[in-house]
Amino acid sequence: MRPNSQALKHRSLHETEREFGGTLGAVCIPVLLPLTVLFLISVSRSPGASLLQWPPAVPSTDQLWDPVAPVLLLGWIALHGLLYAMPLGKVSQGLALRDGTRLKYPINGFHGLCVSGVLLMLLLALGAPLGSLFELLLPLAVCAIALSFLFSIYLYIRSFWVPSHALALGGNTGNPLYDFFIGRELNPRIGNFDFKYFCELRPGLIGWVVINLGMMMKEVELRGSPSLAMMLVNSFQLLYVADALWNEEAVLTTMDIVHDGFGFMLVFGDLAWVPFTYGLQASFLVEHPQALSSLGSLTIIALNGIGYYIFRKSNSQKNQFRRDPTHPSVASQSSFKTVALFKLVFSESRQILPHCTLSRLETIATATGKRLLVSGWWGLVRHPNYLGDLLMALAWSLPCGFSHLLPYFYVIYFTVLLIHREDRDERQCRAKYGLAWDTYCRRVPYRIFPYIY
Ligand code: NDP
Repeated sequence: MRPNSQALKHRSLHETEREFGGTLGAVCIPVLLPLTVLFLISVSRSPGASLLQWPPAVPSTDQLWDPVAPVLLLGWIALHGLLYAMPLGKVSQGLALRDGTRLKYPINGFHGLCVSGVLLMLLLALGAPLGSLFELLLPLAVCAIALSFLFSIYLYIRSFWVPSHALALGGNTGNPLYDFFIGRELNPRIGNFDFKYFCELRPGLIGWVVINLGMMMKEVELRGSPSLAMMLVNSFQLLYVADALWNEEAVLTTMDIVHDGFGFMLVFGDLAWVPFTYGLQASFLVEHPQALSSLGSLTIIALNGIGYYIFRKSNSQKNQFRRDPTHPSVASQSSFKTVALFKLVFSESRQILPHCTLSRLETIATATGKRLLVSGWWGLVRHPNYLGDLLMALAWSLPCGFSHLLPYFYVIYFTVLLIHREDRDERQCRAKYGLAWDTYCRRVPYRIFPYIY
């Protein structure tokens, strides 16, 4: 094999704007985010659980390192690697690549979740101390961070041996720090094993709910039974992960798979950030038990349900539309009626959005041949799926009460992430669809929050 020197010589396949603060971001983020993970885990179990304490408590070496942690982490990833490679579930094709080919992906992440669930139940029945994950959380996070760096270095180096059409458009600037961070190769694979697709939804996402279960078992050890708050956090987040894996095929049309290279940003996000920060509420609840009223619990369950409904319906509508625009489910009357109801609830007068269609499927043609949905969920705001996701994020924090900011870290971070992501997506859509995108923006003026943003 020969390094893709031609691609290097031309510095960039595509002169795109640098994202995440360019080189400065590419240097600072890989330092600051791993420290943030360790800081958040340490703080979540400290009595004060204060995000603002200064100077922050520095964990001792004993707290950061445990030889069991690398064994557990590598064993877990190997188990999921094995399940990925098993002939379970169907095989689906991704979108067409720049060279016209389409990659094949096994759709068996939900099988992986079920097998993991059965194995965990067996381990619990055999008396395995799952609550020890509470003490192992910091060492596991340290190992996941170290693995993210090593794996990203491997991905960066191997990207010099692939043909230039296999590189991500935005990850080939010639600046090694930036390219290492943002990812050079679009779909790094060994044989049929696709690293990005594997990491996106499996070891980290399923690992997150296993850690949550470990926190619940720790609570049982400490107080004899799981609290309602802990059960709500566990069930909401399990629903989210199970939904992502059940609809695994939809990931094939997301920005991460279609557009972004596989570099430190995604590797660290998938293997360290998601499993160790998304479930902070559960580790917070171990040391800071909360009492919930029935009314409070029902309100939180309703909020999670509404968020989930918007999230699922809008994602499904767009995915189905992209796969088959004529599919009857895209034009299902129920989705239009629900959105119409939403609009009536949100605004006293329909005149606020004069152009929006409430009752039938309407689309805008673009020069690329693809159309844009402009009614139903995608006529309410330009990213209804983000709206649903954020409502769920809030519902995950509320069981932790209002005494601390820490359990709200996820919803605050996620709001910033999705506003930034929405902005990235808008720029890409404007570049792709030009005037048609401007028309869409005029007809659907709000980005994520109806009548607010
Ligand atoms: P989206 O699923 O929102 O996809 C954006 C793409 O959809 C656009 O680039 C465009 O692509 C297409 N599109 C936009 N508007 C329209 C329209 N009106 N009609 C038809 N197609 C349209 O992108 P994401 O990958 O950001 O999000 C997927 C899900 O994942 C979301 O629910 C999000 O909340 C969630 N998510 C969760 C994260 C987490 O950490 N928990 C992180 C990131 C996302 P094209 O036209 O080329 O098809």
